[in-house]
Amino acid sequence: MLCKSEKAEDLLKEWKEKLKLNEGLEIDSTSVILVKSDLFFSLYERITRIVGAPAATLLYFVGEDYGKSVYRDFAGEAGEETLKKLCDFTKATGIGDVEIEMDEDSKKIYITASKGFPIGKRAKGRAADSYFAGYFAGFFSELYNKKYEGTEEECLAKGDDRCRIVLKEKEE
Ligand SMILES: [Zn+2]
Repeated sequence: MLCKSEKAEDLLKEWKEKLKLNEGLEIDSTSVILVKSDLFFSLYERITRIVGAPAATLLYFVGEDYGKSVYRDFAGEAGEETLKKLCDFTKATGIGDVEIEMDEDSKKIYITASKGFPIGKRAKGRAADSYFAGYFAGFFSELYNKKYEGTEEECLAKGDDRCRIVLKEKEE
């Protein structure tokens, strides 16, 4: 087990103390925006309606950029702690509870959201949480300095009973 969402409440408490409303909302001078999770479903639905299947790829890349930027904010912290913080950050920002494991033989990384990721909870049909697959792939690519590719193999949206993303190293 690499990490599991456990101390998300501590992180929230810390943010509550640091949250400032200057020109905009800020935590530690990082500009933040609080939105309802509806935004993600709406993005998914609207973009899919316009561009079709490539929407998943588009959202994946946006998520990947975000995951990399989250890693850069965590940088400087030790390995174990960085991973714990990822799981807690993921829960504290509303993405949900996750458990992250690595298969030592294949080196694949499995990210399981037993209650699902936000888009898959509402979408129907195919796996819908490519944004989050990108987010984790981006984070781990920076953390381990390797290129990871993420695929959501199980998703509530296609009738599975959980969402599960698999990251594997991409051959350069
Ligand atoms: Zn899903």
